[in-house]
Amino acid sequence: MKNKKLAEASIQRSALCDLDRADPLATLRDQFLIPDNLLYMNGNSLGPLTALAQEKLSRAVSDEWGKKLIRGWNTAGWYDLPWRLGDKIGQLIGAEPGETVVCDSTSVNLFKAVAAALSLQSGRTKIVSEAGNFPTDLYVLDGLSRFTQDKYEVDIRARSDVINAINADTAVVVLTHVHYVSAEIFPMAEITQIAHDAGALVVWDLSHSVGAIATDLTASNADFAVGCGYKHLNGGPGAPAFIYAANRHHAAMRQPLSGWFGHANPFEFTDDFTPAGDIRRLLCGTTGVLGATGLEAGVDVMLTADRDAMFEKSKALSNLFQQLIEECSVGEVLEIRSPLIAAERGAHISYAHESGYAIMQNLVERGVIGDFRAPDNIRFGFSPLFMRYTDVYDVVEILEDILTSRTYEDDKYVATHSVT
Ligand SMILES: *Cc1c(COP(=O)(O)O)cnc(C)c1O
Repeated sequence: MKNKKLAEASIQRSALCDLDRADPLATLRDQFLIPDNLLYMNGNSLGPLTALAQEKLSRAVSDEWGKKLIRGWNTAGWYDLPWRLGDKIGQLIGAEPGETVVCDSTSVNLFKAVAAALSLQSGRTKIVSEAGNFPTDLYVLDGLSRFTQDKYEVDIRARSDVINAINADTAVVVLTHVHYVSAEIFPMAEITQIAHDAGALVVWDLSHSVGAIATDLTASNADFAVGCGYKHLNGGPGAPAFIYAANRHHAAMRQPLSGWFGHANPFEFTDDFTPAGDIRRLLCGTTGVLGATGLEAGVDVMLTADRDAMFEKSKALSNLFQQLIEECSVGEVLEIRSPLIAAERGAHISYAHESGYAIMQNLVERGVIGDFRAPDNIRFGFSPLFMRYTDVYDVVEILEDILTSRTYEDDKYVATHSVT
């Protein structure tokens, strides 16, 4: 490595202190309970705990579950949670009220969304998706295809070839808006238009978009979408996910996980299934109230932030990270795997290094939490609600130290854990 040093970069830490002081979102950091001396760059994988979530969860356990017991369904707002919270998330993704509900996991919701889209597409037999999409999305499509005894062919194409696969046989196109490793963004409105022109529908996975970049389902004329509650929305480990369907599809769409919460009148306890007339037909069973309570707190905190400021700050943070890396020796050994322009990527960035796993382990031990994605990517998230500009500087400084001193080569950093 050459002698390019972070200390000699064009941006000084003191200037970043000034940026932090002037940051209109700075006070939001106080809402997050992040341990001292931890540089948390993994809000894109598991958002941190908010004071509001801690308070609401503890109240939900002690006062609601503990004292109200089953009365809580009516008196603590449990029954309404899926659509009340769905509409709050809807504000972040450009949905109209009544188009989004919270329930199940992203994987299960993807199954329901794709099946609902297929229910509107008789005669068409192809499902198109991207090679290298988030694995669960591809696994769910594989499962769905097998379950229908291969009635549907899943056509998985390289990113640049996805559009070419959309044709008159295509029933549904299933894409992740922001790629989980590279953070590349698919142009939502443009692809939706191409699909519609071919008579196909689109299911968008917004797991790395919601709370991370400006997303407008209505303006994009989107059909269906799903997304994750525990990443940028800070809902807590395993928080429920959400599912969206455009109003125009509600009356005709059907989905096969027809549980009682998707019934028009669950408490009539009839033998026959009559689907709810609205978005609720995408629900299946009883709401995981505690998980949804944590998610509602995370979303409530996010809704207090100015949305444009939030997305702009996240781009500024990732831009700063990229620039500092380029200006010191780290840039000579890490290869960027994300678009070079912040506006063209989501709120995370990936770099490749053959010892990526060990480097990340070493970073974690030094109090910098990002993550590793096989085969060789280290990934860093830029959450505008709690990250400071100086944090970015401090992370690059530690990274520079690890790479220069080669401490990551120690055997203890090479042993793999089951969750990466
Ligand atoms: C995180 C993520 C998921 C998560 O799915 P779960 O069912 O919550 O495990 C799904 N899709 C994408 C694109 C993701 O990034």
